[in-house]
Amino acid sequence: MEDSKYNATVVGRIEMTPDLIILKVDVDEPRGDFEAGQYTVLGLYGYEERSPNSTEETVPSEDKKLIQRPYSIASSKHQKRQFEFYITQVKSGQLTPRLFNLNVGDRLYVSKRIVGTFKLADTPEGNDIVMIATGTGIAPYISFLRSYITNRPEQKMAVVQGAAEQWDLGYSSELTFLDEGFSNFFYIPTLTDANETWTGYEMWIEDMLEDGVIQKETGIHIDPEQTHFFLCGNPVMVENVTEILRESGYHRHTRKNPGSMHIEEFWS
Ligand SMILES: Cc1cc2nc3c(=O)[nH]c(=O)nc-3n(C[C@H](O)[C@H](O)[C@H](O)COP(=O)(O)OP(=O)(O)OC[C@H]3O[C@@H](n4cnc5c(N)ncnc54)[C@H](O)[C@@H]3O)c2cc1C
Repeated sequence: MEDSKYNATVVGRIEMTPDLIILKVDVDEPRGDFEAGQYTVLGLYGYEERSPNSTEETVPSEDKKLIQRPYSIASSKHQKRQFEFYITQVKSGQLTPRLFNLNVGDRLYVSKRIVGTFKLADTPEGNDIVMIATGTGIAPYISFLRSYITNRPEQKMAVVQGAAEQWDLGYSSELTFLDEGFSNFFYIPTLTDANETWTGYEMWIEDMLEDGVIQKETGIHIDPEQTHFFLCGNPVMVENVTEILRESGYHRHTRKNPGSMHIEEFWS
């Protein structure tokens, strides 16, 4: 018999690489209003099987305990019944190897709460937006764009996506399509370990900012009065970019002290 805490069904699973998936989930009960960029909690019991390419878990989980972790929503804020997540497998982790073992039709837990302060809605309409990501840090921006790209035609929006190799650039087809279709949107992917087929940038994101590449590609100014920055991904990249932006007068946005630099930390 199904455990009562499971309240959602996997309806899609796209394997980008053996350790990177897009998971689409239908919840039994539609959720209330939420904002693009927010996150919810996914859960599976400890008795669920781990994926074949995972390793032993660092911290053993208990069979009857619901393992719960937060995940950013990649789907549009207008979709309240079906949610999309972009997930990296931490091979020795508790939850992700179990999520990676799920197939279409399998059940899981999705929290009824959708929360978080990493929101495009908090930015003034006239300001430009730069979204910087590595890895699964792209997920909240996909929700931003799916929810808002047609609403803010006067505003420049840029996604700077850093990865090691080309196949790590999740959602690059969708981002390229938006770049070609919207004159106010700019997609700037960069690789640190590209092969010979790659014709784009091969720079660290930090260097792209310091050398003015982002400014030149988009015409966006690094000025906290005009441009909001969103940072999500590798903690070292986030720390380095934070330092660079601080030198230009940026401070981290919080509810109590609003600012133009928004940071989402997946892990530290
Ligand atoms: C607000 C928020 C949103 C998040 N959104 C996403 C998302 O959209 N996609 C996503 O893949 N993850 C996301 N995470 C991370 C996620 O919640 C889990 O921490 C992660 O999936 C690992 O869970 P686990 O149970 O497999 O590993 P655990 O058993 O919890 O072990 C995690 C340990 O592995 C290390 N680690 C190595 N790589 C990573 C990594 N990529 N992520 C986390 N820990 C890592 C950490 O140091 C940590 O101590 C988010 C986290 C937060 C706080």
